[in-house]
This record gives sequence, C-alpha cells and structure tokens, in this order.
Amino acid sequence: MSLVAEQITAVIKKIPDDVTLVAVSKTHPVERIIEAYHSGQRDFGENKVQELLEKVPKLPQDIRWHLIGHLQTNKVKYIAPFIHLIHAVDSMKLLEEINKQAEKNNRIIDCLLQLRIAQEETKFGMTKPNVEELASAHQHFKFVRICGLMGMATFTEDSAQISVEFNQLKQTFEVLKSAYFEQHSYFKTVSMGMSSDYQIAIQSGSNMVRIGSEIFGTRNYAE
Ligand SMILES: *Cc1c(COP(=O)(O)O)cnc(C)c1O
Repeated sequence: MSLVAEQITAVIKKIPDDVTLVAVSKTHPVERIIEAYHSGQRDFGENKVQELLEKVPKLPQDIRWHLIGHLQTNKVKYIAPFIHLIHAVDSMKLLEEINKQAEKNNRIIDCLLQLRIAQEETKFGMTKPNVEELASAHQHFKFVRICGLMGMATFTEDSAQISVEFNQLKQTFEVLKSAYFEQHSYFKTVSMGMSSDYQIAIQSGSNMVRIGSEIFGTRNYAE
C-alpha cells in the first residue's frame, strides 16, 4: 500500500461516516492523487483554477472536484462545465457569474457561502450580514444551489478559540437554514476543518472536512 493510501485510510478511521472527506491535493502531483483514488477516494480539493485545469484531464472522470480557494469572477467560466462544489463564494457578483456560467453549461452548480469566522485579519470570506444577504436572495439564482457554509478558523494553538469560531459557523448555518432553506434539503453542508483542526470542527458540527497535509504530506510553499 502506498504512503498516501495508508494516510488516507488512517484519516477515514478518525472521521465519522457521515462526514465527507475532501482530500486537498493542491501542490501535489497527479501520481499522488491516483494513489488516493485507488484507495477509494473520489472527492478532491484544489485552491487554484490554473492548477485544477492542468490536473483534471490527466485524472479519472469520476473524481468530484471541489474548488476550495478564493475564486475570481473571470475564472468561473473555466470550471463551470465540471466543478462539483465551489466552497468559497464571497460576493453577490461571484454568485451572479456562477449562475450565468451554469446556465450556459445547462447545469446547476452547487456552492457554499464563505463566512469569515477567524479573529485574524483575512481578506476572504463574508461577514454574517453579507452571507445572509446572499442566502436570502437564493431564489433569484436558478442555476445555483446554495448547499451550506464554509469557513476557516484562526491559525492558532488555542483550541478553545478555534472551537468558538467553528461554533459560530454552525450556529449561522442553523439560523440560515430555518430562515431560508427549510424546504430545501440540499442546504446541508458545513465545510470546516483542515489537518490541524478537523477534530474540533467535527465536534462543532462539521460534516465536510478539507484535509491536505495529513494525507499528502507538507507542501513545499506557504499558502
Ligand atoms: C490548503 C487548504 C486546506 C487544507 O489544509 P491542510 O492544512 O493541508 O489540511 C483546507 N482548506 C483550504 C481552503 C485550503 O486552502
């Protein structure tokens, strides 16, 4: 068994059955992705459109590709034909463009709204009022399904703080669900937790974790 296959098996043992594992393969070559694929993994995450587009044609067609990083409006058209889930929707403008490109491709694209929960300064993710604004407008977007929320906790050793932040995301998810999505069973995804904090995230109600380094090893450049 390859090292990647061993690592992925170990991670799967640590997460409940109803939590989806997205294997974050950014910076890692297609050979490593194939190893994970052969161990049964089908959900993979990349954070850059360019890198994703280089990998997709070299890999099996039944992989479900997740775009987990910030997405620029002008790049939506490249991923619209095939993307499985866009995790980091952070503006109305982006949502409008995804809707437009989805219509052109005759499909519905699943998305998550990114809520800024970290205390630290980050450029990405929306405030709670902004997230609510998009959620409340969801009926206008016929070719997009808002399936839940995504967030990243502060990069810290302080697990109490991480827990507070993840709980905030889960709570916001519940509020939006009862306000706007009670009739829509597709609103069910809480994407939070990475290699360093996924156990805390699962305790706080995550049902989708995005794990890179614990599966593929450390990356060669800082993100
Ligand atoms: C890189 C990345 C991950 C995975 O991080 P690891 O620490 O390697 O597990 C998860 N989510 C996002 C948005 C990322 O960019």
